[in-house]
Amino acid sequence: MTKVLIIYTGGTIGMKQDSASMALVPFNFGQILEEVPELKKFNLSIDAYSFDPAIDSSDVRPEFWVELAELIKENYSRYDGFVVLHGTDTMAFTASMLSFMLENLEKPVILTGSQLPIGVLRTDGRENLISAIEIAASERPDGRPYVPEVCVFFDNELYRGNRTYKYSAEYFNAFKSPNYPLLAEAGIHINFNESAVRHPAAWGRPLSISTKLDTRVGTLKLYPGMSPQYVDGVLSMKGMRAIVIETFGCGNAPGRPWLLERLRKAVEAGTIVVNVTQCAAGSVDMDAYATGITLKKIGVISAYDSTFESALTKLYYLLGKYDDNETVKEKMSENIRGEFSKNQ
Ligand code: ASP
Repeated sequence: MTKVLIIYTGGTIGMKQDSASMALVPFNFGQILEEVPELKKFNLSIDAYSFDPAIDSSDVRPEFWVELAELIKENYSRYDGFVVLHGTDTMAFTASMLSFMLENLEKPVILTGSQLPIGVLRTDGRENLISAIEIAASERPDGRPYVPEVCVFFDNELYRGNRTYKYSAEYFNAFKSPNYPLLAEAGIHINFNESAVRHPAAWGRPLSISTKLDTRVGTLKLYPGMSPQYVDGVLSMKGMRAIVIETFGCGNAPGRPWLLERLRKAVEAGTIVVNVTQCAAGSVDMDAYATGITLKKIGVISAYDSTFESALTKLYYLLGKYDDNETVKEKMSENIRGEFSKNQ
């Protein structure tokens, strides 16, 4: 019988209203299973594990990612697929991070959650959970899983995890993946978009996890009117190994000499400077405009059409793996988990 492990980490899906503060606080995972008696109808063996304490995903930290990756590794040989219940706020960060940490992944790891707690009448949590379990357990006729990837499932859509971002704080379709097609859509049937799914380079290799994460990364969001003091404040972070600059349009920055000079000095000092666009859709192209060309000349690296979440967590992973910044720079330009569209 196909076996699925549900890992409950926290988030709205398992929250209830605290009678004193009226705020939403996580509750015991056992109650989730009581709320979804339909789970008993699956012809699957389903086990559940709960983080203790369950957390609001705003509290996600690298230690949490390590615990989650270790848990998946410990249980990897015993289960065919994993469903991770997670708060929506930082789900895209966790999905991106796991996609890098889990090396040689051959089984589905499906993250989902909900906008309304599972005990609420109009909850989206029940559908999200049930379909995520079905996807985690889905096998092709050859016995391989349909999606041997880290994915986000939300509001009937299955996305590659490291292509997602949280788009809505209000609507049930909380996630989007503007730069990569859906991996599946749930209607009457679950229709897999098989040509979009990423498969391991070779099957049968053991899962390994990379748990050394180096978070010495800063971010610099560009905006009209920013001051040299603001840029200096970010660039003066002690020990910083990399910085993600969030640029305009297809990777452009103001052509002001004081800014370019500061970025040039940072690159010269060995800092890895990565260019991510503030646009939700489309790609950095540092050859398109003079302001982009200047960044490229300085030595800024393109993240192409990566999300911010993916570029940041890829840096955490690569910096943890390699002490040498030059190697990290090379790897940042390689498509290692389908995180950008170049060399797909
Ligand atoms: N604050 C919650 C969390 O991210 C929101 C949610 O789950 O939708 O944990």
